[in-house]
Amino acid sequence: MTDLTGKAALVTGSVQGIGFEIAKALAMAGASIAVHGLADAAQAREACEALKAAGAPEARFFGHDLSDPQAAGDLVKQVAAWTPIDILVNNAGIQQTAPLADMDIKVFQRIVTINLTAAFATMQAAMPAMAERGYGRVINIASVHGLVASVNKAPYVASKFGLVGMSRVAALEYATVGTRASGGVTVNCICPGWTETSILDPQINARAADHDGDRAAAIADLLSEKQPSRRMSDPAEIGALALWLCDPVAHNLTGTAIPVDGGWTAQ
Ligand code: NAD
Repeated sequence: MTDLTGKAALVTGSVQGIGFEIAKALAMAGASIAVHGLADAAQAREACEALKAAGAPEARFFGHDLSDPQAAGDLVKQVAAWTPIDILVNNAGIQQTAPLADMDIKVFQRIVTINLTAAFATMQAAMPAMAERGYGRVINIASVHGLVASVNKAPYVASKFGLVGMSRVAALEYATVGTRASGGVTVNCICPGWTETSILDPQINARAADHDGDRAAAIADLLSEKQPSRRMSDPAEIGALALWLCDPVAHNLTGTAIPVDGGWTAQ
């Protein structure tokens, strides 16, 4: 069992979805959690309470809007003033679809700012202190769309391919830090395929319109197109993998992009 007692994690976008389940897995292993995302006071309080109930000694909310390029660095500074950051999970992300010819350049820039630039800024601000302590984990939530493309997703695919590439650079730059016993500083991407969260709602709803509003049929349709297992991932499964990456036993697993996609990228 991975023991994160005495450690702290900043998980961006952790008020819901995949980020919340990653935060919960780390909390259950004893980590304190810097909870982050766009949320009203009630949702922020609810997430913090749930994480404390799961086992986090402390959980504190930070509401920085990552569409402002300055905000990500400020977020790390504010969290670091509260607790050293041992684990950084760049999970916050957005998606908007349109054919490349119709995609508004402002939408492109917004997606790249939130999905990629913010991760650059949090890594830049958080990783030197990890190196000083000989232990650190950066887990970037990319996507199958960091490994392969789909139509109508130019900014999303660009941001996720960028995240995979940038993570490999950071993995190389920090590879020699620490020891097997301390755990080293590793940087990896998790690349989910279809995973049941609200980010998929616009795509599921659009597909449901072709099936007389039948949501289950729409999901089955989406899965049959891309995900050979024909099963959605549960966000808690991404949490379980993130927790394993935090264990010192994973000290030599760095610079990878791990698909959790039911075989999507094996095709
Ligand atoms: P979600 O919409 O439930 O969660 C997105 C999170 O990002 C929320 O907590 C939200 O508060 C935060 N966020 C969005 N815009 C923000 C902003 N401007 N500033 C700060 N925080 C912001 O979706 P999810 O599925 O949990 O997505 C989490 C990550 O997983 C994303 O990076 C997404 O690209 C990736 N992903 C999801 C799937 C999937 O099928 N669900 C597949 C592959 C990758």
